[in-house]
Amino acid sequence: KKRNPGETEFHQAVKEILDSLVPVFAKHSKYRDNAILERIVEPERLITFRVPWVDDNGKVQVNRGFRVQFNSAIGPYKGGIRFHPSVNASIIKFLGFEQIFKNSLTGQPIGGGKGGSDFDPKGKSDNEIMRFTQSFMTELSRYVGPDTDVPAGDIGVGAREIGYMFGQYKRLVGGNEAGVLTGKGLLYGGSLGRTEATGYGLVYFTREMLKTKGERLEGKTVVVSGSGNVSIYAIEKAQEFGAKVVACSDSNGYIYDENGIDLATVKRIKEVERKRIKEYVNDHPSAIYVEGCENIWSIPCDIALPCATQNEINEESAKLLVANGVKYVAEGANMPSTLEAIEVYLNNGVYFGPAKAANAGGVAVSALEMAQNSARLAWSFEKVDKKLKDIMKNIYRNSVNAAEEYGYSGNLLVGSNIAGFLKVADTMIVHGVV
Ligand code: NDP
Repeated sequence: KKRNPGETEFHQAVKEILDSLVPVFAKHSKYRDNAILERIVEPERLITFRVPWVDDNGKVQVNRGFRVQFNSAIGPYKGGIRFHPSVNASIIKFLGFEQIFKNSLTGQPIGGGKGGSDFDPKGKSDNEIMRFTQSFMTELSRYVGPDTDVPAGDIGVGAREIGYMFGQYKRLVGGNEAGVLTGKGLLYGGSLGRTEATGYGLVYFTREMLKTKGERLEGKTVVVSGSGNVSIYAIEKAQEFGAKVVACSDSNGYIYDENGIDLATVKRIKEVERKRIKEYVNDHPSAIYVEGCENIWSIPCDIALPCATQNEINEESAKLLVANGVKYVAEGANMPSTLEAIEVYLNNGVYFGPAKAANAGGVAVSALEMAQNSARLAWSFEKVDKKLKDIMKNIYRNSVNAAEEYGYSGNLLVGSNIAGFLKVADTMIVHGVV
C-alpha cells in the first residue's frame, strides 16, 4: 500500500490473489527464493498519455489514456480497453493484474495487460467517438503490435470503437496486420463467436458448477446485472439452456420481468438504439423499472450473474442474495464482488465462480482470433464455440483440481488463483531474473 498509495481496487485484487497463494508458498520455497511475489505485483510497464480531441462544438477536450503491460512471461500482453469516466491507474492495474492469471488459466499463450481512458462515451456523437478513438490510438500505436501487445474491447469499447482503432492503427503503421486487435468486425479479420464469447463462456462455466451439484440450468431463476456485451450473451445462453432470466440493468437502473426478459427488446434498445434500459417497459408494460441499480440483488434468484462492473455486490447485497436463497454466483464482470461479499458466499454455502475463471471465455476466444489471423483463415462459429466450451470445461476442472490439491476442496476462488499463478510463476523462474 505504501508503494501504490490510494490504489484501492489494485490493493483489493492483489489481496484476493495473495490470500489464495498462502498454501502454495507454504509448500514450495522456490517462489519465495525467486521473489516471484515482489516481481509479479510490479507491472513490467505502465504507460499514461494525453488524449486531446475536438468536440462537435469545436472545443478542445483532454482525456488521459493508459496501457498497463503487466506480465509477458507466457505470451504477448493481452487485455481490453475500457472507456469510462472512473478509469484511473488503480482500475487499470487491478484489471491488468487479474488478466495475468485469467489468461494463464485459458491455456493459451497470452500475457496480461489492460488499458483505457477516463473518456465518457455517453451522449457523444459518432464523430466525437471517432475523433477521440483516433487520438487515443495515435499514441497507443507506439506500444502495441501482433506479437507484443494485443488490446480488445471492454466497458465502453465495442465493435464500433475497435473498428475506429484498427483503421487508425493501419493508417499510422502501414500494412494490414489484423492481429494487432481482437474483437474486430467479421469484415476485416474478426472471429465468429468473439462477440458472444464472454457471456456464453460464463454460462458454460456455470453449467459445470451446477453439474457438480447434480443440477441443471433448466427452470432456474437467474438475475443478470448490466445489459452490455457480457450480459446480453449471458442472458441469451442461459435462456437457451432453459433458465428464466428475470432481471437486468444499466448504470441508471434495473428492469424486472417476472415472465422472463425479452432479449430481442434489450438488444434493440442497447445495441441498435443505444438508449437506456428503462425503455424496456414501453414494450413490456407488465415489467417493472426501478431507478438505481444496486437493488437488483434484492430480487430472489437461484443464480446471480453480475456482469456490469467492479464492486457491484457488497456485503449487504450478498447477504440479501443469501437470504433470498441464491445457490450460485458466477462473475461475468471483473471483480464485481467485494472481498466481504465473497466471504458471505463462502460462509453460506453459495457455490462461487470467480471472474478470472468464469469470464475467461472472452479472452480465450480473442486468442483464437489471433491464431486465425496468424494463419490467415477463418473458422466456423461451430468450431469456435466448441473450442470455447472445451476451454471453459478445462478451466473449471483445473480450478477444482488445484483447490483439491492444496486442501481447499470446492473453493474455486483459491483453485483458479493457484492454477493461474503456477504456470506464470514457473515460467518467470525459467526466464531468470527479468
Ligand atoms: P459494456 O460497456 O458492453 O456493458 C457494461 C454494462 O454494465 C452496461 O449495461 C453498463 O451500463 C453497465 N455498467 C457499466 N459501468 C457501470 C457502473 N459503474 N455501475 C452500474 N452499471 C455499470 O461492457 P462489457 O459487457 O464488455 O463489460 C462488463 C464487465 O465484464 C466489465 O467488468 C468487463 O471488464 C468484464 N469483461 C468483459 C469482457 C468482454 O469480452 N467484453 C471479457 C471479460 C470481462 P450503461 O449502459 O449505463 O453504461
